[in-house]
Order: sequence, then structure tokens, then C-alpha cells
Amino acid sequence: MTRLAGWGRTAAATASVVAPSGEAGVAALLARGPLCARGLGRSYGDAAQLAGGTVADLTGLDEIGPIDDAGAVTVGAGASIDALLALALPQGWFVPVTPGTRQVTMGGAVAADVHGKNHHRDGSFARHVESLRLATPRGVFDLSPEVDPDLFWATVGGMGLTGVVTRVRLRLLRVESDAVLVDTDRFDDLDGVMAAMVEGDERYRYSVAWVDCTAGGARTGRAVLTRGDHAPAGAAPPRAPRAGRLRVPFVAPPGLLNRLSVRAFNEAWFRRAPRHAVEVPHSLGSFFHPLDGVADWNRLYGPRGFVQYQFVVPERAGETVRTAVERLARSGLVSFLAVLKRFGPGDPGHLSFPMAGWTLALDLPVGAADLPGELDALDDLVLEAGGRVYLAKDARLAPAKVAAMYPRLAEWRAVRARVDPEGVMTSDLARRLHLVGR
Ligand SMILES: Cc1cc2nc3c(=O)[nH]c(=O)nc-3n(C[C@H](O)[C@H](O)[C@H](O)COP(=O)(O)OP(=O)(O)OC[C@H]3O[C@@H](n4cnc5c(N)ncnc54)[C@H](O)[C@@H]3O)c2cc1C
Repeated sequence: MTRLAGWGRTAAATASVVAPSGEAGVAALLARGPLCARGLGRSYGDAAQLAGGTVADLTGLDEIGPIDDAGAVTVGAGASIDALLALALPQGWFVPVTPGTRQVTMGGAVAADVHGKNHHRDGSFARHVESLRLATPRGVFDLSPEVDPDLFWATVGGMGLTGVVTRVRLRLLRVESDAVLVDTDRFDDLDGVMAAMVEGDERYRYSVAWVDCTAGGARTGRAVLTRGDHAPAGAAPPRAPRAGRLRVPFVAPPGLLNRLSVRAFNEAWFRRAPRHAVEVPHSLGSFFHPLDGVADWNRLYGPRGFVQYQFVVPERAGETVRTAVERLARSGLVSFLAVLKRFGPGDPGHLSFPMAGWTLALDLPVGAADLPGELDALDDLVLEAGGRVYLAKDARLAPAKVAAMYPRLAEWRAVRARVDPEGVMTSDLARRLHLVGR
């Protein structure tokens, strides 16, 4: 039995972890009974664990095939974006959608239908998946948007609950260098940064704003916006520092991240950013995955861990972002830099998170007495605005709200029932949110 937790380190569970060898091993596990799929455990809550049950560690399914001339490659579901990039970059290819860490498997990327800083331009991970293989209690299916589209789209964003993804055929993005040319702009308030993001949708492939949720008054929502695209061949090498190789050696004592220390960090970070800088070459690591430079950084949040709360609201509900940031700044809660991004239209995934509009992600240490109530209030705001909370980050949502946030849940359950009528695929998240078995 092994103790497992999500990246937020809340709600740990003990489970029997089994590493199947190849697709035959996966089929054998599916025949045995309740099962939860797990990749690299970078979902924040309880999506990749099953208390008292069996968890399939799929990281052994890590073969990566040759990349063809059009950039298509077949990758084992347990291979990480990190491993794929190590192979693809020297050949001039990049992963078309990457989350804020490279330590994510192909299976995890499909199950959460992950997004990057380019959703407004390139959509989420599924848009770049040509096909995938899914092992279910009712057999193995090769799926694509054309072949059994219902099961394909139920699997994309389906949080591992339609079966075990064993391989993915992905279309990569051609790049000419290993650098990104980045424009940086500092804004003293939220309105300024949001207006600039809307105005820049067409011009920038990548766009992300880091919002200071500790600043109040006229500086509420002050932010640093970074936008850019891959540098052409022959561009100057990155000047910005490459991601380092630090490690947080132990779990920090409770209270290390308090309102004072976080406010001081946010202040220093805001002042460090240039007010306006154009086409500064950054390394891919420092632009896409700055947090990967510090291994186990989640330990900084102390023994109780932290919650990442990420929501999306439709384009028309930008005011909800402002209300959320204002509430947080006024509350006594500690919140590290929040991440604000733009989403383009969502894909047909029944439970896929993105929809056209605004997404805000907040990191909040667990422990403050008013945290649960504050997040419940944010859920209501998001729901009222027609938005939703991201299941890959969730650790505390109420089941009734999920059904309202994901209106195609019943349709998804019907597709899932076709390949898993006995409810073999499950997880602590699925049980907590009543996603399956009802
Ligand atoms: C620092 C950091 C930054 C992040 N930034 C982003 C971001 O920008 N955008 C974004 O979208 N997400 C982001 N995430 C979340 C992360 O991308 C997702 O949670 C992703 O699903 C994690 O992949 P994993 O391999 O670790 O999967 P796990 O966390 O192990 O599992 C996640 C889900 O996938 C399922 N699963 C895993 N493997 C398989 C498989 N082979 N078959 C079927 N189901 C499977 C699990 O059952 C579970 O439901 C971030 C996470 C971290 C820690």
C-alpha cells in the first residue's frame, strides 16, 4: 500500500499501486475490478488516487515513436512532455500545447484536456491529438474525432473515467529555435491588463498575466503581462536566465507562507518586471515552465498543503474576474501570484474545461478558517456567470455544483456506460463529486 496525494498535498489516500507492463498488463488490471489511472500526479486534488483501491501507475508506458515529416508521433500514454521535448526539440518540433509544467504524461494531458498559454490561438491538447488508444472493461478502442467521436470526446477531459489511455498520436508544432521572443508589460490595475490581453489576442500565440492578489486600493489586480512566440532561426540566444535545478528539501513549517511573506514576494516580483520590454529572448524552460526549475516546490506550502482554484468564465463575464480579485485582496487570505489567461472556444469534450473567455488560477495555502467559505462564494459567482471550475485542480467542490457547471455530465455518463457499465474506472475525485455510479 502506498500513500498518494495530488500536487496540492491535501487529502492523501493509501492505495495499492500497480505498474502494468504494456497494454496486456493494463487489460489484466481492468479485468480485476475498480481501478484509477495515474500519470505523474500533477493534478492538484484527488483525481489520480483511489483510497483503499488499485491505482495503475502508467509511467512505464513510455515509448516514443519516430516523428514523421508532418510532425506526427505516436507516444505511450505514460511518457512525459519532458521526455517528448527532449526528443522532439533537436529535430525542430515542439509540443503544441503545454501546461505550466513538463512533468505531465500524455495520458494526464488527454484526461484533463490540458491547456497552455496559447488556448486563444491553438485550443487545448485534444485539438492536436490525431487518435488515441483506450483500454476499457469492454475492450480496446482506437479513437479519433472521426472514429467513434462520442467516446473520443468523452475521454478527452474525462478525467480517466472512460478507460485507460495507452497511447496517443499527436501532431507537433514546427519551431526554428529553442527560444521564445517575449514582450513584457507591467500594469498598475486589472482593467489595463485585461484590455491589453483582449487587444493582443490576434497578435500573440502565447499570452499570460501574473496578477498580484495582495495589492489593494487603486492597485488592485496590478499585473505583469508576458506575451510572445517562438523565435525564428538565427535569433539572439536567450538572455533571461535558464530554469535552474533547485529542490525544496523538506516540507516547510506551517505558516512560512503568510500574508506578510507573500505580500513581500509579490511586491518584489512586481518591481523586478520591466514596465515595457520588447522581443526579449527567453529559454523555453523559463518561459513555459519556470516552476520546474525548483523541484518539489509544493512542499513550501507546509504540511497541510494548498489548493489551486482555477475557474473559467465566458467572455461577457470579465467582471467576475475583477470581483474575484477584489474579494481576495480584501479577504485575509494568502494568495500567491494568480495566473490570468484567455481562452478561445472550447472543444466538443463533454467535460473539457475551457470555454471562450477568461480563466484565473489561484494558489491558496490550506489552513485559514475562512478559506472554505470564500471558495464556496467564488463557486457561486462563477456559476452565476455561466462558468466552471477545473476538475484537474479541484479538491473541494460540491457535487451539485459540478452538475451545474458541466451541463453535459448526463450525456457523458451515457457514453461512458457503454464501455464501463459496471463502473470499473473510478477515483477519489469521481466518488467525491458523484461523477460515476449514479
Ligand atoms: C506546476 C503545475 C502547472 C500546471 N499548469 C497547468 C496548465 O497550465 N494547464 C493545465 O491544463 N493544467 C495544468 N496543470 C495540471 C496538469 O497539467 C494536469 O493535472 C494533468 O492532468 C497532470 O498530468 P499527470 O500525468 O500528472 O496526471 P495525474 O495527475 O497523475 O492524473 C490526472 C488525471 O489523468 C488521469 N490519467 C492519467 N493517466 C491516464 C491514462 N493513461 N489514461 C487515462 N487517464 C489517465 C488520472 O486518472 C487523473 O484523472 C499544472 C500542474 C502543475 C503541477
